[in-house]
Amino acid sequence: MAKKAKCPICSHPIEIAEFLEIGNTVDCMQCDSVLRLIELDPPALDVDSLDDFEEDASEGDEY
Ligand SMILES: [Zn+2]
Repeated sequence: MAKKAKCPICSHPIEIAEFLEIGNTVDCMQCDSVLRLIELDPPALDVDSLDDFEEDASEGDEY
């Protein structure tokens, strides 16, 4: 049975798939925000800042 968490921005209920783990991100279909899973029991979401992802995605766009 899928768990649900609320979007911290628009309070839209978001289904947390069973394969998701803490640190994974999900998109809010309501407000289009990227949310990070910070708790599993109970599931909780926090707003993800895209800046944290720059390390992983080395696309070579240096200034
Ligand atoms: Zn939302």
